[in-house]
Amino acid sequence: MSRVFNFSAGPAVLPEPVLRQAADEMLDWHGSGMSVMEMSHRGKEFISIHAQTEATLRELMDIPADYKVLFMQGGAIGENAIVPMNLIGRTGRADYVLTGDWSKKSHKEAKTYGQVQVAATAESSKFTAIPKQAEWKLDPGAAYVHICSNETIGGVQFHWTPDTGSVPLVADMSSDILSRAIDVRKYGLIYAGAQKNMGPSGLTVVIVRQDLLGHALPITPTAFNYKLQAEADSMYNTPPTYAIYIAGLVFQHVKKMGGLKAVEEHNRAKAKLLYDLLDASSFYRNGIAREDRSLMNVPFWLKDETKNEAFLKGAEARGMLQLKGHRSVGGMRASIYNAMPIEGVQALVQYMKEFESQHG
Ligand code: PMP
Repeated sequence: MSRVFNFSAGPAVLPEPVLRQAADEMLDWHGSGMSVMEMSHRGKEFISIHAQTEATLRELMDIPADYKVLFMQGGAIGENAIVPMNLIGRTGRADYVLTGDWSKKSHKEAKTYGQVQVAATAESSKFTAIPKQAEWKLDPGAAYVHICSNETIGGVQFHWTPDTGSVPLVADMSSDILSRAIDVRKYGLIYAGAQKNMGPSGLTVVIVRQDLLGHALPITPTAFNYKLQAEADSMYNTPPTYAIYIAGLVFQHVKKMGGLKAVEEHNRAKAKLLYDLLDASSFYRNGIAREDRSLMNVPFWLKDETKNEAFLKGAEARGMLQLKGHRSVGGMRASIYNAMPIEGVQALVQYMKEFESQHG
């Protein structure tokens, strides 16, 4: 068996030990005589998996006791509606900061549920930089301020936490959750689809400060009502049980790696290899403001775009897949999430150098 280096933006590479353990436990989980996939979500076996998964996430991210952790469905695009449905009711207004495709999508969806303002936009830089906080026009009467901490398509990432005063900060962390240590206390709500750094698609993690619950608009579907889900331990409806189990194994794996500080160091080292090459090259370019570059998704373009196909073909022949950029921006994109080993990035950098010397 040979595993490739998978640079997909998501669903994405998962830690190999996790996949092996899941394979070992596939037919008979811990002597239960059944697969986790076959278990009742109300049985003691699954309840223990669920509890352990939540406890490990709480430990890794140092989630305070007054925050609820919800395991939901609907993905981050679902959350674009679920967040305003649950939170905007407090004042009827919300602020959005636009830094790329994903935050623009969140803002567009939220308009259905209340009065939504753009507090800042990176449009003038063509979304290649995060707007400085001094330029933000925040509404003190907003129910929350929404950001996307890492723009998976554009490749910009917040390397600082906005100060929104008493207005709760809401972050879509789909593509950088668990990639670094953050202070959860600075956020009112964090949401993320699992399929980059946590596990398979189908699971959405929501971390929400308890006092924000209880303001859902009457139109909120009960399965998407945070308060009901919090009261029911995320079991108001059947949760995505297998995805929760795999996420639990990933969390254990991250813990074994030394926790989020160690993971962050590893991620910095990987990203540096790529950015150093891009900075030194006149054959490739990245185009993102240095201080706002994503450590997770590195978009880059060949100066001569007619070489794109040859580049991708050569990469594939060396076992490096999914490097084609998002269809809306073209070029290339290397997604280097937690589970991408440094060897994968080294192999990519080596290949990029060789390709440049042959075609430059
Ligand atoms: N937000 C971000 C930052 C993302 O990267 C993605 C998926 N690439 C989404 C939202 C949408 O996630 P989903 O398709 O799981 O709803």
